[in-house]
Amino acid sequence: MIDPRAVSGCVRCGTCRSVCPVFQETGWESSGARGKMLVLKSMTEGANLDSGCRDSLGTCTTCALCTQICPAAVRPTGLIEEGRRDLVLANVTRQEHRRLNRNLLRYGNTFGDGRDRLGWLGEEKEMLPKSADFVYFAGCVNSYRYPETAKKTFQILSRFSVTAMPKEMCCGSPLLRTGFDAGFLREANLEQMEAMGARAIITGCAGCYTALKGYGGLEVYSVPEFLNQRLEELDIQPLDLTVCYHDPCHLGRHQGVYDPPRRILEAICSLVEMKASREKARCCGGGGGVRAAYPELSQKIARRRLLDVPAEADAIVTACPLCVRNLRDAGGNAIDLIDLVSRALPPSL
Ligand code: SF4
Ligand code: SF4
Repeated sequence: MIDPRAVSGCVRCGTCRSVCPVFQETGWESSGARGKMLVLKSMTEGANLDSGCRDSLGTCTTCALCTQICPAAVRPTGLIEEGRRDLVLANVTRQEHRRLNRNLLRYGNTFGDGRDRLGWLGEEKEMLPKSADFVYFAGCVNSYRYPETAKKTFQILSRFSVTAMPKEMCCGSPLLRTGFDAGFLREANLEQMEAMGARAIITGCAGCYTALKGYGGLEVYSVPEFLNQRLEELDIQPLDLTVCYHDPCHLGRHQGVYDPPRRILEAICSLVEMKASREKARCCGGGGGVRAAYPELSQKIARRRLLDVPAEADAIVTACPLCVRNLRDAGGNAIDLIDLVSRALPPSL
């Protein structure tokens, strides 16, 4: 349920419009952060829940730029997610999001892929330690779209007594962000963590990171945080490259993880900042269910983000496979941080 008191805190100043990546592309009041707040207000006052409400709230990448900048301390991002839950309860949803929900209920992954989620492990799957302090959580995108990234990550993490879940399921992020219930996925993953006696989980996906943190009672690390704490043990060999770093919204603004990926990159190569970075980093356009349901908008946002890449950067490094995917689709040379780490490690690894 949308909290009417939280919604009424909006003084309609429009400050959030200046940063909302959706408003920058569409120019429509109803799709910008302030317009979404007005739609939420009308919903709390009993407005008819129709496709107009759905497409206003649906076109939010959950980037949290509005939440960060709001001078009245309103948190539009969370309120938009609350509004989406009301729309799901009223069955006013995009068919692309209903498909995501069906895929997750049936297959436990966003793609509706019936293949083994741990296929990237190959024969090593049979040798997985049954218990360990740390568990690697690959996530849907790396498991099914970038299995080589999942494999490289696991190979590096394996040096530090890390195992993987034999029956990992989606973290639930796509459902949580689009207003659906994700409790069944949380339960399935937590049950396995408990059975393995693990105390912490490590993920290389920003969306998974926020979702896993939301489970509660779980120690969660992003791959950059985990590796940054063990940088000296990695024996990094520097590379002759200049890169910039794209802060994924759910790792940066949502969770405050800005420095660990930068420390790792500085150990490997030259790092230059994007035109908008850290707290001000622009969104890649992929999150919040926007890539699935509004692909053209998603790609426009990604193309604008690519304008922030400094001319001297050989590549855009990031720490989220969804950002990699959306920025690549928009024509960017985006790579996962782990690709660079694995190139900088001695050949014995
Ligand atoms: S959400 Fe905050 S920044 Fe946006 S219009 Fe309302 S008060 Fe202003
Ligand atoms: S979270 Fe981002 S996309 Fe969503 S309304 Fe706020 S600024 Fe716009």
